[in-house]
Amino acid sequence: MKIMTQLMTEDGIRCDGRRVDQLRNISIKVGVLKNADGSAYIEFGKNKILAGVFGPRDVHPKHMANQDTGILRCRYHMSPFSVTERKNPAPSRREIEISKVLKEALQPALILKDFPRTVIDVFVEVLQADGGSRCAALDAAAVALADAGIPMRDLVSACAAGKVADRIVLDVNNEEDQEGQADMPVAIMPNVGKVTLMQLDGILTTEEYKTCLQTAIGGCRTVYEIQRKALVEKYFESGDK
Ligand code: ADP
Repeated sequence: MKIMTQLMTEDGIRCDGRRVDQLRNISIKVGVLKNADGSAYIEFGKNKILAGVFGPRDVHPKHMANQDTGILRCRYHMSPFSVTERKNPAPSRREIEISKVLKEALQPALILKDFPRTVIDVFVEVLQADGGSRCAALDAAAVALADAGIPMRDLVSACAAGKVADRIVLDVNNEEDQEGQADMPVAIMPNVGKVTLMQLDGILTTEEYKTCLQTAIGGCRTVYEIQRKALVEKYFESGDK
């Protein structure tokens, strides 16, 4: 079958050389922006993403302020050079959707009630995208929120799984996303033990769905260790505790 020969060899090696259960290389650097309250830069395979956080701070416009709770705003933006076809700089439907997805996936980790009448702003700039950018963006944003000193119930760790050449695979890349059979981005609060994001593009059987979800959760747990190490590196090993 065309898809199978293109996306996976008979030995189960994927188009970028990975095994089915293998994540791409991930590196996270905390506190990379001087003017944001918190920030992080992530490389997740070929994805390169910056997240900057401001707040809690006064809400503008003022009428958006809530007397009872703080609010979270997220903006996911792709730079024009982040994809092969120059992306129109105007916000696309996809960027608006992903901004909403990021907000809903991060919000359960924040204790917004403690900061009434304020806003926390999360800005995500995708410098280079290669499939799974919403998950990588979440991973960077969660670390940036922690870097901003915002009280959190837990980190949020995200990773996708999917179905490619009839097999469930961890961490779907761009080619697999475009040509594969399913893509399931997942985010969890690893210590609280809750899923805060689960989307599914494609069709899976019930069994495949369960395997795919468990595979993605396993990936999220690995990502969590990398996020934790990046924070420890900044706050406990660099000397500026
Ligand atoms: P995610 O990046 O979270 O997987 P999608 O599934 O919508 O989100 O996108 C998959 C990939 O498709 C992106 O990571 C990016 O590499 C590519 N892509 C998204 N938008 C565009 C675009 N406007 N032009 C070219 N490629 C794009």
